[in-house]
Amino acid sequence: MINWSYTLYRSLWSALDLLFPPVCGGCGRVGSRWCTECQQRVQILNGTLCEVCGLPQDRNGVCDTCHADRPHFRALRAWSVFEDPVRKALHKLKYRRDVALGDALTAHMVHYVKELNWPLDMIVPIPLGRQRYKERGYNQVGMIARPLALALGVEFAPKVLMRGKETRSQVGLSKQERQKNVLGAFQARAEVNGKNILVLDDVATTGSTLSSSADALFLSGAKDVYALTVARALPHHGLRHA
Ligand SMILES: [Zn+2]
Ligand SMILES: [Zn+2]
Repeated sequence: MINWSYTLYRSLWSALDLLFPPVCGGCGRVGSRWCTECQQRVQILNGTLCEVCGLPQDRNGVCDTCHADRPHFRALRAWSVFEDPVRKALHKLKYRRDVALGDALTAHMVHYVKELNWPLDMIVPIPLGRQRYKERGYNQVGMIARPLALALGVEFAPKVLMRGKETRSQVGLSKQERQKNVLGAFQARAEVNGKNILVLDDVATTGSTLSSSADALFLSGAKDVYALTVARALPHHGLRHA
């Protein structure tokens, strides 16, 4: 079946391209928003992954870290490794409000997400803190979550999850510091009750933010919580181990 609303959404961007020649979000070349060269350079995160946290490991099943301290979502998966050109594109989304780039990236993620076969009712982007939202004026994660929800035919719910407290940036914190930083950071509205939720973020490192959001969603009665990011920072990307 053709998903007409998604087809319409996509053709809107194609129409705009005729007026304003697009620039690639990965390399800056003129011609398309996500050029074929950048598409080929994306490092898809596949292979043997921990069933829960989605990090690469050499055997199937649940990794030792998740056995010792299990995250609260059912599973976390990422489309790609947090390296260029995806890293550059995410940076552009975050600071340049490139909604069309969000759409272009999402179009390449849809197949991956469908293959996961998760039973989803609702897609919820991780919200920014009030202060950061005020400064930036938009949530870059919504620019992926909205077209993804359209493509999957699942409800897009950008308002059901809220930040209850301002949290400092997770950059440079150890896993324990990250968990503490985001503990009780979120609140979820009653609309999530009984639903299978996909929480979406742009990048995950340890997954603490997504796990904390799962706490809030379960507290408001969510049936199950799955977590997805566009990219995953692998442990060699500079996370300090405490
Ligand atoms: Zn490119
Ligand atoms: Zn794990």
